[in-house]
Amino acid sequence: MIKKRLYLGLLAVTMLLFAGALAYVWLTFFQRDAGLFRYLLVIAMTVVLACLAVIGLGFVGIVLSIISDKNIVFLNKPINFTVSLLYPVVLWVGKVFKIAQDKIQCSFVEVNNHLVRAKKGKLQPQQLLVLLPHCLQERDCSHRITSNMENCTDCGACQVGALSALCKRLGVHLRIATGGTLAREAVKTIRPCAIVAVACERDLTSGILDCIPLPVLGITNSRPNGPCHNTGVSLDAVEKAIKFYIGGGETNVHVLT
Ligand code: SF4
Repeated sequence: MIKKRLYLGLLAVTMLLFAGALAYVWLTFFQRDAGLFRYLLVIAMTVVLACLAVIGLGFVGIVLSIISDKNIVFLNKPINFTVSLLYPVVLWVGKVFKIAQDKIQCSFVEVNNHLVRAKKGKLQPQQLLVLLPHCLQERDCSHRITSNMENCTDCGACQVGALSALCKRLGVHLRIATGGTLAREAVKTIRPCAIVAVACERDLTSGILDCIPLPVLGITNSRPNGPCHNTGVSLDAVEKAIKFYIGGGETNVHVLT
């Protein structure tokens, strides 16, 4: 919960800032100006107020979903609106408070995963896509696995072979992407109903935002050799995330609609 509080706290501060700015503009200009400007101001303020109301609903939806561990179906659209619209501002507010970006991104992934896990419904294995980052591949490996996973000989030098075997066994799609473009292409081609994504906090965050409203369970990779090369991931976490969607694990009760 501590991790989630950071993103939720910054989201609340962001909303307060917007509300404060709105009140300031209203109090400063409404009394002073008359005529056409006043009408334009009223129209602009109404639009911004409506957006703020949806954002407020989205925030309430996120908090209720986390507290109750349930999907608040009728608030899903406001939640998606709030998350995608305010994320850059939340990062900016975090910067003002000198909070490291990766901490905010990590908190965002936690909140997202909680929202995804709160949903119910079960998927067929072929409706699920597992997206892995290219940096999981051993740096000196000469096999081109981004174009064809079958090129991996499962030599054991990295986890790609084991992850490929896991996805084959569970019957889910697997793609390795070198960046956002390849990941988007994979989503466009396979058209999954949900995604399990492995990446660093930054890539996970942008991927999750890119995919909205598609549910994405994010798993952060480990980076014992520094960023972007010879990274690792918990096979157990990947298997649990897949089984969350398709059933067969302890978390079989949580499924998606
Ligand atoms: S497991 Fe596959 S991807 Fe990893 S080093 Fe061996 S052949 Fe290359």
